[in-house]
Amino acid sequence: MPNNTITHDVIVVGAGLAGTWAAMVAAREGVKDIGVLSKIHPLRSHSGAAQGGIAASLSNTRPVAGTGPRGPLEQIPPGEEPVDSPDLHMFDTIKGSDWLGDQDAIRILVDDAADVVYEYEHMGCVFSRTPDGRINQRRFGGHSAPRACFAADWTGHVLLHTIHEQALRNNVKFYAEWYVMNLIIEDNICRGVVAMDVLTGEVHTLRAKAVMFGTGGYGRAFKITSNAFANTGDGVAIAYDAGAPLMDMEFVQFHPTGLYRHGILMSEACRGEGGYLINNKGERFMEKYAPDKMELAPRDLVSRSEQTEINEGRGVMEDGQGIFLDMRHLGREKILSRLPQVREIAINFVGVDPIDAPVPIQPTAHYSMGGIPTTVDGQVIANAAGDPVVGFYAAGECAAVSVHGANRLGTNSLLEASVFGRRAGYAIAEFVKGGAQLYPVSGDPAERQRQRIKSLLDRDGDELVEHIAQDLKSTMTDNCGVFRDEDRLKVAMSDIKELQERFKHARTMDKGRHFNTDLLATLEAEHLLTFSEVIVAGALARTESRGAHSRTDFPKRDDEDWLKHTVAHKTDDGPKLSYKPVSIDWEKYPPQERKY
Ligand SMILES: Cc1cc2nc3c(=O)[nH]c(=O)nc-3n(C[C@H](O)[C@H](O)[C@H](O)COP(=O)(O)OP(=O)(O)OC[C@H]3O[C@@H](n4cnc5c(N)ncnc54)[C@H](O)[C@@H]3O)c2cc1C
Repeated sequence: MPNNTITHDVIVVGAGLAGTWAAMVAAREGVKDIGVLSKIHPLRSHSGAAQGGIAASLSNTRPVAGTGPRGPLEQIPPGEEPVDSPDLHMFDTIKGSDWLGDQDAIRILVDDAADVVYEYEHMGCVFSRTPDGRINQRRFGGHSAPRACFAADWTGHVLLHTIHEQALRNNVKFYAEWYVMNLIIEDNICRGVVAMDVLTGEVHTLRAKAVMFGTGGYGRAFKITSNAFANTGDGVAIAYDAGAPLMDMEFVQFHPTGLYRHGILMSEACRGEGGYLINNKGERFMEKYAPDKMELAPRDLVSRSEQTEINEGRGVMEDGQGIFLDMRHLGREKILSRLPQVREIAINFVGVDPIDAPVPIQPTAHYSMGGIPTTVDGQVIANAAGDPVVGFYAAGECAAVSVHGANRLGTNSLLEASVFGRRAGYAIAEFVKGGAQLYPVSGDPAERQRQRIKSLLDRDGDELVEHIAQDLKSTMTDNCGVFRDEDRLKVAMSDIKELQERFKHARTMDKGRHFNTDLLATLEAEHLLTFSEVIVAGALARTESRGAHSRTDFPKRDDEDWLKHTVAHKTDDGPKLSYKPVSIDWEKYPPQERKY
C-alpha cells in the first residue's frame, strides 16, 4: 500500500446533522471503526446555523379560537382534537415541491418526523416549551399547521450539539479540519477518499468498506447567499467527478429574507412569528400574490413576489433593491425571547434594531434541492436503471432523495438531514456487518492529489483565483437567480466556460503547506466551477417554470413534458442530461394547480 494510508470500516464526510446521525447510528448498531472527516470544526457545520425549526406534526399548539389563521398560538389541551397529522404534512410537502418530490420518500420523511424529534428530546435536546412543558411549535411558510419545533432561533445549534455528543459517546472518531479532495470509485465500487490534513498540508488515502457523504449545500456559488463560507458544494462536485450522477441541480432555493446586500439569513421564523413584508409604498404586497397565506406562502413564491416589487420600482433603500421586513408590532418581549439571534444579526450587520425599525432584506441563495441521487436508505444511485454505487451513501443537503422536489418548505431540511442521515446509518451498519469488504485501490490516489496541488501552486498567471470565484458568483446571481430566461442562462453558461479556462492559469497567493486556506479556496473554486455548469445546463434545458426554477420565457408548469427529474453525468463535452420519472401516488396525490 502507498504511504499515508488510513483505513476505517466506515468513513463519513461531513459532520453536520446528516453525517453525524449516520455515524452515530452505525456506531450504536455495532460498527466499531468509524471516522468522520470535516473541513471545519464539526460544530461549525452549517446545520448549527439553522435558526427557525424542525418540522414534525406533533399537534402541540393551535391558533387561538376566533383569531383567524394568522392569530396567536396556544397549547392544545391534552385530549383535544389534533390540528395536524403526517398526512397533512405530506400534502403540504408535495405541494411545496410543485409535485417534483418523490412521494415514497416524503412518506418516510413525515412518518419518521415525530420519532426523530422525540429521539432528540430523549438525548437531552433543549427545545422551547409550551407552558405545560411540551415541545413548542410555531408556524412556517407553506405548512398548514404550526409544525416547526424550535429552540428560540438557535434550533440547528442545539440539534447539532446534541447529536455530536452522542457520536462522541459512541466512540466515533472525528477528523476536524480535514479536507476531502477526491472519492475513489473503481468498477462501480466505492473504496475510500483522499483527504488533506489542513494543518499539516499532508495528503492521505483513507480506505473504507463504506463511504457516506453528508457534505451539505452550495450556496457559495452565488454572490448573495445565506450560506456559510464552507458551503461550496465540494461533495457534489467530487461525486460528479468520480462518475456519480447529480439530480435536479437547477432547483436552487432563494430565501426571501436575506439581509440587504449581505444575504445573511433573517430566519423565516420572523414571518412565522408574524412579521410583515412591506414595499416602498408601505403596502403588505403579499396580498396580491398569495392572499390566503400572505407572508407565509412558500419561499419560491415570496422571493418572486419580492423580486417583482423590486423590478417594478417598489423596492426600498437607495438603489430600490430591498424590501422591508417589519417586526415592530411583535413587540420587544417576543423579539427578545423568540428571535434574539435575528435581532443581534440585524443590529450588527445593518445597524437596525427590529424592535424599533423595519429591517431591509432581499432574496438570498439559500438551499440546494438537487444533489447526489439516493434511495430512501441513502444508497447512491449510479444510473437510470437504479443500480447502486456499491458502498457509497449520501444524505442531507448534498443528496437528492428527493423530498423537496422543486422547492423545499422551511424546517423540512433539518428534518430530512436527521431522518435520512439516521436511515443511512442503519443501512451502512447492515452493509458493513453483512460482510462488506475493504477493496484494494489501484495506484496511489493520494499521490495524484499531491500532483494536483503542486500544479495549482506552481501556476503564476496574472489573475488570482479569488477573482474567478467572484466573477462566477456574480454571473450565477445575475443570470441564474430568482428569475431566469434563455438569454441570461446562455450568458451564465458562456461565462462559466470562460472562467473554467481562466482558472487553468490563475494563481494562488500562498504557496505554503501548513493551513493554506488560499489553497483550500482554490480547490473550492474548482468545485464551484464544476457543479455550476450542471446547474445552468439543467436550467437551460428545463423549458418550464416549476417551484424555484422560474423561467420568464416559459412561465407555466408543464407536466406533460417536464414532470421528471433531471439527471446529469459528467462527460468530456460537459454535463450529459437524462431524465427519470417522479415517484407519485396517482390515486392519492395527483398533480394539482399550486395556489396559496
Ligand atoms: C442560515 C441558515 C439557516 C437555516 N435554517 C434552517 C431551519 O431553520 N430549518 C431547516 O430545516 N433548515 C434550515 N436550513 C437548512 C439546513 O440547515 C441545512 O440544509 C442542513 O443543516 C444541512 O445539513 P447537512 O448535514 O446536510 O450539511 P451541513 O450541516 O452543511 O454540514 C456539511 C458538512 O460537510 C463538511 N464538508 C463539506 N465539504 C467537505 C470536504 N471537502 N471535506 C471535508 N468535509 C467537508 C463540512 O465540514 C460540514 O461538516 C438553514 C440553512 C442556513 C444556511
